[in-house]
Order: sequence, then structure tokens, then C-alpha cells
Amino acid sequence: MVRTYRPQPLTSRSCTICGSRFRAKRQDARLCSQSCRHRASRYQAGGRVCHQHRVKVAALAELEQISAPVTLAGCKVEEVSRAVAAPIIARYEWLGDVGMAERFFAAFTPAGEVMALVGFTLDRHRLADGGQTACLARGCTTPAAHRHAASWLIGRALRALRKEGVRRVIAYSDPLAGERGVIYAACGFRAVPVKVKALYRLRPPRVRWYEHHRCLSDRGLRRQGRDWSHDDARAAGWTVERIPQRVRWERDL
Ligand SMILES: [Zn+2]
Repeated sequence: MVRTYRPQPLTSRSCTICGSRFRAKRQDARLCSQSCRHRASRYQAGGRVCHQHRVKVAALAELEQISAPVTLAGCKVEEVSRAVAAPIIARYEWLGDVGMAERFFAAFTPAGEVMALVGFTLDRHRLADGGQTACLARGCTTPAAHRHAASWLIGRALRALRKEGVRRVIAYSDPLAGERGVIYAACGFRAVPVKVKALYRLRPPRVRWYEHHRCLSDRGLRRQGRDWSHDDARAAGWTVERIPQRVRWERDL
């Protein structure tokens, strides 16, 4: 076949969500990867589960005639293998893969259905210290979940890890993915401030929400002959945004 069009140049630009440079194949591409697309859609859903995800889970529940137990009596928690966990995570977890998680615990209904699943990594995370600190890396519930299935499961999974000598558990919530850490707070984790690169982003007039490359940092306000404060920028029609920061949660066992 003869190619009659001119090939588009691959352009290098930075991802709206994570900021890393990537080679865009499409002229209007602004996200580097699938996980950044997920984060963007959750961000735009304002912290709520997005419509598509709710539709998907409801449809699965209907299709498989799943109903959630009213009490936790008869439910049990067991450690499961990666092979068992992976398809459930792929189906119900936002990030869609098991990532660095290596130990999985599942809560089962009395009928034997998985109602919630969590994945931990012991030594493949930033604060790894030879098995003393575990990171709660993945978690999801299914349509068969009791209202408190997630916190019930996490409590029991942490007890199991404690018996093996784990002394601390950490987890991250990502406001850019609409996460507020509600479940971690409910499970007795405390939020720990993480070192922050930049707190604010200054958006000039008529620059759209995803065009971060056209925004300035605080320092940028004092360049090119400008010496603006935030108020000066606001007066000139700019928007001052707080940059969403990931929050680290910790709990000592
Ligand atoms: Zn990205």
C-alpha cells in the first residue's frame, strides 16, 4: 500500500496528570498512560466513583445474581494467592492490575463469594525496611460486599501480618484519583505530611484545566519583569490552584 499522507511527527510533551514526559502519537494527547487516564476520570468525577464504573459493577451484580450479606456472621478472611487475586483486582480495582502487591487477603461471604480483597507489598515500596513495614498497595470490594467489608478485612489482614513481625503499615491516597483516605481513617491510620514539590499552580486566563504546561509556578510569577503575589495574579484574571498532593497514611501495629 502506498502511503499518501505525511506521517505525523511524534511530539514530546508532559502528561497532564503525572507530569512525566511522553511521546504523543495524537496531536491532542495529554495523558501518558492508562493509569493516568483513570486518575483523570476520577479527578473529574470529583471523588465519586464515576458513572461508567458504577454501571459496570451493577451490571456484573445483576448478571451473576450476587447479593451482599446483611451481617458479617459466617464471613471469613483468608490469605489467597496472586493467581486468585489478580482477576478480581483486574475486574473491580481502579488501577486494574496487582502492581507491586505480593501478599493478598480476601474476605468471603458465607456462600463463598469474595466480597473484598487487599494486596500488600512488604519489601517493594519506598519505605521498605526488610519486612517491618508493609504497604497496602491495592484494595477493592465486589458487588457481594457487606457495608463494612473493607475495614473488617483490613483489620483482620493487619492482625495476620502482625503475627509475622510486621510492625507498621503505610498506604497512599491520591486526591488526583478522587481518593480521600476515608477507609484508612476508618481503620485507624493517621495521615502523615509528605514532602511537597510545589503547592500552587498559577493558571493564566483562557488556559484550560488540563493545560498545565501553560501554567506557572510560584517562582514563575517573579520572572520576566513580573513581581506578582497571588493576589496580583488573581486581579489579572489568573487562577491560583492548590496542586493535589498524595497523602501517606501510617498505622503502627
Ligand atoms: Zn501520566
